[in-house]
Amino acid sequence: MSVGTGKREANGREPLAPQYDPSAIEPLLYAEWTARGLFTPDPASPAKPYVIVIPPPNVTAALHMGHGLNNTVQDVLVRFERMRGRDTLWLPGTDHAGIATQNAVEKILAAEGKTRFDLGRDAFVERVWAHVRETGSAILDQLKAIGCSCDWTRTRFTLEPAMSRAVREVFVRLWEDGLIYRGHRVIHWCPRCLTALSDEEAEHSDVDGTLYHIRYPLADGSGHVTVVTTRPETMLGDVAVAVNPEDGSKRPLVGREVLLPIAEIRIPIVADEHVDAGFGSGFVKITPAHDADDFEVGRRHGLSAPLVMTEDGRMADLALEGQAGGRVPAPLFGMDRFEARKKVLELLKARGLVEKTEPHRHAVRHCYRCDTVVEPRLSDQWFVKMKPLAEPALAAYRAGEVTFIPQRRGDEFEQWLLNIRDWNISRQIWWGHRIPVWYCDACGTSKAYREDPARCGTCGGALRQDEDVLDTWFSSWLWPFSTLGWPDQTADLARYYPGDVLVTAPEILFFWVARMIFAGLRFMGRVPFHTVYLHGTVRDTQHRKMSKSLGNGIDPLDVVRRYGADALRFAVTHGLAVGTDVVLDPHDLEASFGSGRNFANKLWNVGRLVGGSLEDVQEKKPLKVEEKRALKVEALDERDLRLADRWILSRLERVVRETTGHLETFRLNDAVGVPYHFLWDDFADWYLEEIKPRLRGDEPGGEVARAVAAHCFDTSLRLLHPVLPYITETLWRRLPGHAGDTIVTAPWPDGRTGRPDPGAERGFSFAQAVVNAVRAVRADYGVKPGQAVAASLAGLTADRRRAIEEEHAMIVRLARLSRLDESPAEGAGAHVVLPDNAALFVALGDAIDVTRECARLGEEQARLAKQLEALRAKLANQGFTSKAPADVVEREREKAREWSDKVAALAAKLKALGCE
Ligand SMILES: [Zn+2]
Ligand SMILES: [Zn+2]
Repeated sequence: MSVGTGKREANGREPLAPQYDPSAIEPLLYAEWTARGLFTPDPASPAKPYVIVIPPPNVTAALHMGHGLNNTVQDVLVRFERMRGRDTLWLPGTDHAGIATQNAVEKILAAEGKTRFDLGRDAFVERVWAHVRETGSAILDQLKAIGCSCDWTRTRFTLEPAMSRAVREVFVRLWEDGLIYRGHRVIHWCPRCLTALSDEEAEHSDVDGTLYHIRYPLADGSGHVTVVTTRPETMLGDVAVAVNPEDGSKRPLVGREVLLPIAEIRIPIVADEHVDAGFGSGFVKITPAHDADDFEVGRRHGLSAPLVMTEDGRMADLALEGQAGGRVPAPLFGMDRFEARKKVLELLKARGLVEKTEPHRHAVRHCYRCDTVVEPRLSDQWFVKMKPLAEPALAAYRAGEVTFIPQRRGDEFEQWLLNIRDWNISRQIWWGHRIPVWYCDACGTSKAYREDPARCGTCGGALRQDEDVLDTWFSSWLWPFSTLGWPDQTADLARYYPGDVLVTAPEILFFWVARMIFAGLRFMGRVPFHTVYLHGTVRDTQHRKMSKSLGNGIDPLDVVRRYGADALRFAVTHGLAVGTDVVLDPHDLEASFGSGRNFANKLWNVGRLVGGSLEDVQEKKPLKVEEKRALKVEALDERDLRLADRWILSRLERVVRETTGHLETFRLNDAVGVPYHFLWDDFADWYLEEIKPRLRGDEPGGEVARAVAAHCFDTSLRLLHPVLPYITETLWRRLPGHAGDTIVTAPWPDGRTGRPDPGAERGFSFAQAVVNAVRAVRADYGVKPGQAVAASLAGLTADRRRAIEEEHAMIVRLARLSRLDESPAEGAGAHVVLPDNAALFVALGDAIDVTRECARLGEEQARLAKQLEALRAKLANQGFTSKAPADVVEREREKAREWSDKVAALAAKLKALGCE
């Protein structure tokens, strides 16, 4: 592996290259991990299984940041549990994605000037298979590129024979249980995709529309009624005008007739409770074939339901459609529904029947695959009765068998269950699981079959299969058990069902998550996972969802190429608090991914110091080989540990506990943030600085320092491995005693080998406070970096004094002091108050030009004092304080307090410097 310098050290190991290059490391490591079978669980293992099933990406999709986030989260959890010793299965696969994949191939055909109908069903399906075989594994390879530790030996595809068998079995069982039926009702129809959609697939979005108030003349010429609608083009399908039966003023009109404009036919006025008397005029047009509620009204009153549009959303010639003609006038034939809306209004205006129009913002459903406005349409479809499936799910949820994170998603789930509607599962497309129902025209029967039948079981007649295919989600709702071999009772199924956690974006809570719970309870008798973690969405800096059409996406593979997979993973997890979105800047990748790359570089440099050749500190006195011998931290004698050693070990123990807790509760941002700050701030900035003289051999105890450093670094790498798998593996296996080993299956730190020592933490943090205070004084007074200063401390407790004594050398070195003692403050200098009333004096007489500093501080004090005086006068003015808003006055008071403090601080500085 080309991570080294090419040179060899005395121990035979190649030292790390000076620069970290992820592209040189990641693909090789990944290949090694899979070759060693590290991601494949061991069914014979005595360990408890830990199972996550992947939300299968669409088979022809390209990886986007949404996948990047979702799969990183899953991988973090899986790697964490794998290190905790669980027998881990992350089961991958892809979804055939009926409408989406069919659309993609139809687009390719369109470029060739063809439609699917030119090819015919069989040739078209073969064409889609060819496309899927060509592009289908790309997304799985992309998941590998970001480090996902899936068990690729169990990869599944929702349209492969084994999955199809499960789909078929479920359909037939539901059929036999009377839960599948053929319904004639108004469904959501996409005029572009030419298929029915489920409620969830027809997504609401708000649009600016218009409310049209249209007069329908009474048939006897005695006046008119006014109906209000957003869709005048559907009025040609009206079969009645309805009023609420409780609406007394309108009751006399019930039973009379109006003349439907344009169509010029008579339709009745009926009374129906469904009508909201308070909406508009209280008269509602009833269009049973193009509105689900109207369909119910029509059915209650025995009215017809004429369709006035074709499947592709054009005005139909009803006579040609085999219905009673005369409704749609010839000039409208074949006109697109939105064109027709304009034309209908024109015709109404010409007759003086448009009373008024007003702007109206309202929700309109759009196809989730192509964004076309969905048309409610009367149609024959297959449905699943959902109440009998939802009830056990509700009971399981209320019994705590499944928990949602964040909790509010559980409330949404519960609400959805309570208002559940039957599921339209038939799609008028060709790509997917064909509905396993056969019709016998000879005896008029229909039946669902597990195996393709040859002849009618009743009369022996010829059979014909239903033309429709099943909703894509009808295969994905079985994913947690169909992927494990169901309906066969396989060993995999027994061991790996139910799983543990389902990680997904909230958008598919109802589409998929809820239905998996239904299916799991129905067919396996248990919920498929105990926890559903619904993470946020990836958004840009304007908080817009990333999308192709907005051009604000980020290509995860581009990030991997430029910053490495670890940097990508760091960015999405570090930004992911529970219940929040991840914000990334598509126009500034450096801002989004630079910090992950910088952290990897930091780890690399620390790795070179701790696990590598120690070449940075070797210059003065190279260590002898035997001094590099690894010492186990557990074997260290307490008496050999310095304050810094006890401090870092104590901090480490806390960091292990906190990181573990955050991972257990899905707080991924903290799970990476805690070891990140430990490694960077505590370990690299302080501990490694503290031990440099020991490592160098300038002070005794080098082997102890090295053992503690190696232990802390080893533990940090393990804590960081779930998020940063590649760099942690590279550095970890170079630590003493890890040759040939892998961090992928290294035990998760339990924290108990650390040494909790609150006293050491207090002591060392006091030493840090002294260094920080001197550094601040030096910056404040512009002391040159090379200039040493003297400092003295006062008011030390015994503990503090001991801490200072123990870390005296470090403080002097890091603060660049010529002297640090408890002699009384003398001459010009700066006073600093430290924790617990200790005081620090930094002598500045020799370090700065006191006269000039006095002049500068004096001027600043005078300027601030004058401003403060003016502000106080303003605050003393009743005219201001009584008239200005309270918060403005409070802000000014706060400002006065701040300035007053600053003036006092400047006075103290002037006094300390001995200025006149
Ligand atoms: Zn569509
Ligand atoms: Zn028959």
